[in-house]
Amino acid sequence: MPLRPPALPGAPSSRGPRRRALVAAAAALIVPAFARPLAARAIGAAALTQDDGTVRLSLTLAEPISFRLFTLDNPLRLVIDIEGAAWRAGAPPPGLGPVLRLRAALNRPGVTRVVLDLAEPVAVRRAALERGGAALVVEMVPAPRSVFLREEAASEPLPRPPQPPERPLIVLDPGHGGRDPGAIGASGTQEKRIALAAALELRGMLEATGRYRVAMTRTRDVFVPLADRVRFAQSRNAALFLSIHADALDDPSVRGASVYTLAEHASDSIAERIARNENRADRFAGPSFTGVTPEVARILISLVRRETLNGSARMARHAVASLRREVTMLPNSHRFAGFVVLKAPDVPSVLIEMGFMSSRADEALLRRADHRRKLAAAMAEAAQRYLEEAVPVRAAG
Ligand code: ZN
Repeated sequence: MPLRPPALPGAPSSRGPRRRALVAAAAALIVPAFARPLAARAIGAAALTQDDGTVRLSLTLAEPISFRLFTLDNPLRLVIDIEGAAWRAGAPPPGLGPVLRLRAALNRPGVTRVVLDLAEPVAVRRAALERGGAALVVEMVPAPRSVFLREEAASEPLPRPPQPPERPLIVLDPGHGGRDPGAIGASGTQEKRIALAAALELRGMLEATGRYRVAMTRTRDVFVPLADRVRFAQSRNAALFLSIHADALDDPSVRGASVYTLAEHASDSIAERIARNENRADRFAGPSFTGVTPEVARILISLVRRETLNGSARMARHAVASLRREVTMLPNSHRFAGFVVLKAPDVPSVLIEMGFMSSRADEALLRRADHRRKLAAAMAEAAQRYLEEAVPVRAAG
């Protein structure tokens, strides 16, 4: 018997009233699939039709699927496992001919099981994807039980979808730690503790977005040499490195947050002094630490790629813009200096001074958890804006 395309709504039929009724029933079931766009990866409509003893099941698909068909005894069932599409066809059509009823349910993650409960055994004359994969068609005719029990069919397996790209990694670097307390405020506040508290807050906010992985150069009060902080970010292929500080200046009247990126020549004396003090953190490393030699440092700087510097500058602009809305800023808030921790040649890197321990006003604010939350929220917003801009920072491959 020749196969016919599925009935369309309103298609004229010259057959008898029984067939017209069947076509109308099938059309009613198919209509929703034409009336609205199908959800991605869905079985959007199901129809059972009968024609001269052949029962035809047609499932409308929005996406390529793979299927496996087999039979079960006691009671008689024809089972179709469909991988790659969820059932979105509403209530299954009523039984027809040897099909008592049709059921559909999630069998296991990603697999929908369609079961046809049968009144009598059938042979599967055809089980195939049609219309370029837009429909799965199964045709059945009555057959002896011995034939029924041997029936099975399967499509080509679905190609495995490519893995989603890995979420970018942000490395947070709380300044100082362990025997290096960093700057100490007039009230005795230690920079290392403020930096760690703010970084932990920031990590929580970034992880809560679900869009980034976050790693920290330290999560406890331990000493980490500057070069190790850089290597930590490089070896993990970080998309962004944020070093978090609250240093001290000679002038206690200077206050506010500021953002620093790498430059061989400091942009101003404040930036130069901060960099000098920061880089000196390694004096706490002790004799067992062999740091970066001046020669290696020069090589590192020469390796700094333009796009890394551009990325750092973009991040710094976002950081200044976000922080400015929340807290007092130092004038000329984006400054440049030769920080060792910013010298990763291939990781855009920014150092954020959340304020200065040398300022009583800043120290008092930085001791407050709600103020650190504001700072962390501004840094999180800046990092998100930076990472979601479509400008490629790292060369592909
Ligand atoms: Zn510091």
